[in-house]
Amino acid sequence: MNVSKKSKYILWSTWILMFPISLWTIYSQSDFTIAGYELDLISFLLLIIFLSILPIVVNGTPILFIEGVSLVIFLYFGLFAEIIFSQLAMLALLMKIRIGWKDLYRFPINSLMFLGVSLIGGITYYLLVGTHGDLDMSSGHVLIPIIGYELSKFLGNHSILYYIKRSVYRLKGPYFSKDLIWEAYSKLFHFPIGLLLYILYIEIGLVAVLYVGIPLISLSLILRLYYSSERINGYLQKTSELGHELAGSLDVSSVIDLFNEKTGEMLSVDYSYILDRITEEKLEVIRHVKKDSIQTSTFDPIYKNHGISGNVLASGKSVIYKTRREWEHLGETYLPESVESVLCVPVIRHNRVVAVLVFASNRRRAFEKYQLTTVEILASYLGVATENARHHEEAKRKSEICALTGLYNYRYLEELLDKEFANFQSTSEIQPLSLILLDIDHFKTVNDTYGHQSGNEILIQLAMRLTNMIGEIGTVARYGGEEFVILLPDTDKLTTHKIAETIRQMIANRPFTIHDDLGGGQKIKVRITASIGFATAPEDAEGPLDILRHADRAMYTGAKQGGRNKVAMYVK
Ligand code: GH3
Ligand code: MG
Ligand code: MG
Repeated sequence: MNVSKKSKYILWSTWILMFPISLWTIYSQSDFTIAGYELDLISFLLLIIFLSILPIVVNGTPILFIEGVSLVIFLYFGLFAEIIFSQLAMLALLMKIRIGWKDLYRFPINSLMFLGVSLIGGITYYLLVGTHGDLDMSSGHVLIPIIGYELSKFLGNHSILYYIKRSVYRLKGPYFSKDLIWEAYSKLFHFPIGLLLYILYIEIGLVAVLYVGIPLISLSLILRLYYSSERINGYLQKTSELGHELAGSLDVSSVIDLFNEKTGEMLSVDYSYILDRITEEKLEVIRHVKKDSIQTSTFDPIYKNHGISGNVLASGKSVIYKTRREWEHLGETYLPESVESVLCVPVIRHNRVVAVLVFASNRRRAFEKYQLTTVEILASYLGVATENARHHEEAKRKSEICALTGLYNYRYLEELLDKEFANFQSTSEIQPLSLILLDIDHFKTVNDTYGHQSGNEILIQLAMRLTNMIGEIGTVARYGGEEFVILLPDTDKLTTHKIAETIRQMIANRPFTIHDDLGGGQKIKVRITASIGFATAPEDAEGPLDILRHADRAMYTGAKQGGRNKVAMYVK
């Protein structure tokens, strides 16, 4: 979460201004004394600290079992003792989750919040004329201030949290949220346990701490286990969903993007990188995401045994780093200054590292072992999915190419024409689209004279001449046997006529060199000609089939019947 410098400054100054004074005021009003209670206080303190370092984290909020104990402290020793105890418990929790320097502002927030809640509870209790010490719990009267105390602490706690979420973290959400129900549930649990501990403490003394403390700590431990397996289950479910999605994706680029986006989300990382293995020794960052947005910056390559990823490339083993200090000396060059935790996993195919994944967080200790395991599973999914997608892309590419000439085939041409005509219909500013159809004259004779193989050589050379000539201005495809099509977007009739004429001359004037298949294979030069027809949309044609048919008709009636070696345009 992002907290501004100003907010942090306000938080610390408020704490320094308020905390010591409040504590002193409350102390001077109380008759709290340690004498005679040293062992009791220490036992209770140990119990409360024990419970606070075993938090159960549900949706990012730690749930603590300390409230029952703090109720006992409050009832028996008074408000001042309760404040000290809850502050120490809070401090223990912050130390346990090891907030770094950057998150130190959480101390004043929590300290003030706990203080506020203690005060709200205390004031309510005194307003309801509650007292401290050895209370007679069999009388219903004492229950009224106690219930008031608990209720006001409950609402106070929720209201303060709600306010902090809005003002410090700038999070929006309803006041009556799911959290409130959770807190109410946990109150229903803490309150009776607290009363139980209190009554037992009055009746049998210090040993009560053991009787109630042991089951409370055990319950904490069991719930922790339950929640961590629950969390891992959630992860595994997301992992398998993503696995399916990856398997269904058929182009390499979208497989990689999907992986990067979803895994980053799952791990809630600040940065993620995919490094592709370019050579035996070298990795290159091919994707770089910073908090949901794809980045385009480029980085120097990473070499084997250098940096975190270079070492993972060399070892083939995943690593987790908890703090910057652990990896800084390796020098991962592209990671931003703010990064602390890093999770790095190799993508392995056929026992070879083919890529390296790097996830980075600005928080310390952001990644846990089970997250590493899920990323490892996902990495193997990624390996398979990219390979599948590569095969698919390759197969698709092959299915669109003529094996003899390397030109696009009729299947591709059809799709391209459909696309071009779809573009036509969607844009208001209509650009002309022209199609040239070329048919070699008397090609059967060429085959009959020099052999089929020699005919093929001509087709290959002609394909080359055409692609060289057309370059980027259009697409050349092999339409059928000795027929070629050239599709020219944004090209009008006049220009098309000129291009067609140039092609005609290029064929007729420059002989083709072939190996005479029937005459012993020696090199010979052969002259051929071609008949060419063309049509232009939208003038001559409304759809893909029209333009082909019309160019064909121009070629046949205009050029072939007109004596061959001619260019003809479609006329209605
Ligand atoms: P015209 O078009 O001028 O009327 O005469 P043509 O002889 O070219 O016409 P036709 O359409 O009758 O014959 C086309 C010939 O092209 C028939 C076939 O032998 C040849 N042909 C088609 N595909 C190939 C190929 O892949 N390789 C070779 N070598 N020849 C092919
Ligand atoms: Mg033909
Ligand atoms: Mg022909």
